[in-house]
Amino acid sequence: MLRYVSDYHTHTYISGDSKSTLMENARAAQAAGVAELCMTEHWNLLDQQGNRLPTSYDFELVLMQWRRLRNRLAGQVELRVGIEVGNSTVDTQAVDRCLGLPQLDFVIGSLHSTSLSYGGIGIYTAAKACTSRQGAAAILEDYIRQMEELAVTDSYDVLGHIIYPLRYLPAEYQLTLKPWEDRLAALLRQVIDSGRGIELNTTQGTTVEGWQWLLKLYRDLGGQIITLGSDAHQARYIGAGFPQALALLEACGFRWVCTYRRRTPCFHAL
Ligand SMILES: [Zn+2]
Ligand SMILES: [Zn+2]
Repeated sequence: MLRYVSDYHTHTYISGDSKSTLMENARAAQAAGVAELCMTEHWNLLDQQGNRLPTSYDFELVLMQWRRLRNRLAGQVELRVGIEVGNSTVDTQAVDRCLGLPQLDFVIGSLHSTSLSYGGIGIYTAAKACTSRQGAAAILEDYIRQMEELAVTDSYDVLGHIIYPLRYLPAEYQLTLKPWEDRLAALLRQVIDSGRGIELNTTQGTTVEGWQWLLKLYRDLGGQIITLGSDAHQARYIGAGFPQALALLEACGFRWVCTYRRRTPCFHAL
């Protein structure tokens, strides 16, 4: 049976840190055998310096692109409207009001910034400035605490790139999130009990292996809802690392991968 492959974490120029157009991403999806593409542009509530950003999001540009291409690409690539909200806990109520948009298919809840009590600076910035193992542990502790806060909200369908800080912290420390396993298990139970899920984010094909123990933990807890995303910021990374990621999901005991339609998961056999 032919596998239904979907990329549920992709960016275009609308995100600000990408130059891709939706058409380029869609064509790259076709070339990579990706049947369904979800646009998940950035909506961050904090910038890298810890300044607050707007607590509302104007979906007009996203919807315009989507309307323009969805019919044109019918039968070639299925296009869905998503959003990646960064640090929604800064103002959960304001975020939730924007997430009521009827056309919205999917919401990734991510943490790109440290907590306000930590200064709210970008995790990327904090991690790159990190010069000690202790400092790294403090960033991760802050991150887990924020993830616990995010997990109990309604402001997401899947938790985004849970292993995110590990992308940027000094590699020589060989850090993992295992010291926080008990707390991760508790928050993942919360995710599962609320009918939500997590994503396997390949970081443009570079971080598939780093997911193994977390995926097993989630699966062992009964987690079934999982989406797959490349986090592509350039069209050439659409679907990057997916053969390895799909094999890993199977090896970890998953039987489905999910897409979303109007905030409701659809299950596709692996
Ligand atoms: Zn992200
Ligand atoms: Zn992203």
